[in-house]
Amino acid sequence: MRRYFTILLGVLIFSTLIYGISRITYQVNPVGCTLCGSCISSCPNNAIVADDEIGCFRIDQSLCDGCGTCLGSCPRNAIYVADGRSFLFGRVTNSETNFYIGYATVQVDTLSVTCDRFGNYFFTLNEGIYTLNCSADGFQSVQHSDIALASDDAYRLNIVLTPSTGNSTNAVGSQASKLNCYPNPSYNGTNIEIQLKEKVTDNLELEIFNLLGKRVRSLPMESTVFWDGLDSKGEQVPSGVYICSVRNGSEVLKKKLIIMK
Ligand code: SF4
Ligand code: SF4
Repeated sequence: MRRYFTILLGVLIFSTLIYGISRITYQVNPVGCTLCGSCISSCPNNAIVADDEIGCFRIDQSLCDGCGTCLGSCPRNAIYVADGRSFLFGRVTNSETNFYIGYATVQVDTLSVTCDRFGNYFFTLNEGIYTLNCSADGFQSVQHSDIALASDDAYRLNIVLTPSTGNSTNAVGSQASKLNCYPNPSYNGTNIEIQLKEKVTDNLELEIFNLLGKRVRSLPMESTVFWDGLDSKGEQVPSGVYICSVRNGSEVLKKKLIIMK
């Protein structure tokens, strides 16, 4: 009897080891993810969870069994087979206006990238400790050191630059003011971004109206804000067309947004 028990125990340990070694692990790319939420219902183990620290979804490896169902559920291909590498990502903003700085240069060790026009950058790196430098025309450069990345990590580092001349108009240049929502249509909330030619007031407010002109929600607006699709009472708004509106002095920016359930 003892012999059979020992054999059984051996088989169990061996299978666990093989499973642990061979199981494919997956992760969410926080740079590509639009927070649409499509992947959540695809997971039979509820392993896709919100991570408030990085402001995105991630896969809880203690719940994930590696079935791979979520891979095909993402319209943005933001779910990938994790291979130990990590993401270092974030946004560069102006300390005076809180608005993003497009096309800033971000350098990590010998790697260098140019931010997109919304000030976003990202690196795919191995586990390690890194130093990051960031610079942009008209701003003082900054350095962040001792950035510790673990394996399969996602590390958000938002960078704030101070204008070197005291003139912050470089952040927006001569571009026209814009208000964007994505995803749109939206199922589980949407990111709303604003780019102003000139900031007139310090307290911008985002207002969401239904098509009857009734205000359903207002939120403090910085360069970007996430609207979760809830009204001011915390209830999900019905499917339909809504208007996002931001007033900047005499300028009012509006954008149509479609909510689907
Ligand atoms: S691999 Fe399977 S269990 Fe893991 S997060 Fe994706 S759907 Fe869920
Ligand atoms: S389906 Fe893709 S884009 Fe949507 S929340 Fe999941 S990972 Fe993000």
